[in-house]
Amino acid sequence: MGKNMNKIPIIYSRKYNISVLCIEYFHSFDTRKYKKIYKYLKKQLNLTKEQFYSPNRITEEKLLLVHSKEYLKSLTRSSIVSEIAEIPIIKFVPNIILQQGILKPMRYATTGTIMGTELALKFGWAINLSGGYHHAKRDHGEGFCVYADIPIAIKCIWRKNPELKILIIDLDAHQGNGCSAILGKDERVAILDIFDQLAFPRDRFAENLVSHKVLVKRRIRDKLYLEKLDYWIPKAINEHKPDLIIYNAGSDIYIDDPLGSLYVSEEGILARDEMVFKSAQDNDIPILMLLSGGYHKRSWSIIGNSIVNLISKGILNY
Ligand SMILES: [Zn+2]
Repeated sequence: MGKNMNKIPIIYSRKYNISVLCIEYFHSFDTRKYKKIYKYLKKQLNLTKEQFYSPNRITEEKLLLVHSKEYLKSLTRSSIVSEIAEIPIIKFVPNIILQQGILKPMRYATTGTIMGTELALKFGWAINLSGGYHHAKRDHGEGFCVYADIPIAIKCIWRKNPELKILIIDLDAHQGNGCSAILGKDERVAILDIFDQLAFPRDRFAENLVSHKVLVKRRIRDKLYLEKLDYWIPKAINEHKPDLIIYNAGSDIYIDDPLGSLYVSEEGILARDEMVFKSAQDNDIPILMLLSGGYHKRSWSIIGNSIVNLISKGILNY
């Protein structure tokens, strides 16, 4: 069999990688996580750079579909960026450096999510090797989330197809308070969010806008976690009948993640991703996966292994 030279609906840009000098000393964030996954996939799947999709820069008009002008303007102050990134020391860094090193990567990742929804609708699936900033709200960012990429991407699709029904499956360890605050009241959107209520962000108002809210106890392990998914994913799909699934696949549910409180193993994460993609496929629903949180130094390899696993089992084709 010859080498498959088709484009793969995976989106990556080298601009995704966060680069502010020494940032990793102040935040448990692997700033080169995206690049490591990309390189791993390239090698394991024998792909060329040209086979990946690459996003363009975002227009302000698209950011304004969700965010206020005042909020976007506030990001020109380093103190605001330092609060969102939860790294106090960077408030002393000139804003231009933060724009280049943090905000620009996140804007490219946001276009990646927009592009991902289009590719998923076209090819049945897509993965953006970044994005999933589910804590960002209209006028406020927190938890390292500046731009609300999921709501922005959804509003972009609705401009072409206002009837499109979307299910957000948010399996990051933390509750997606930005997404639920922005989209929770819209009947075209359903949200299945599985999280530890005692962990960040403890935003009870936003949490109550989640249509399928599933609370789990900290230190939950594979068996019980996967049983919850097995019950809730089909239920959410059957009740909402979505035309598109956006899967926020945070890997911070990993047992050793420094910012997560759940105890799911690497095998558990692979099984979780398989379950989500198979459910979408069995129901013929296009699906876009976003990486969201994952702060362990091995996060990149768990995500890489999971994507390779999905492709080698034929769950994802290209
Ligand atoms: Zn998280």
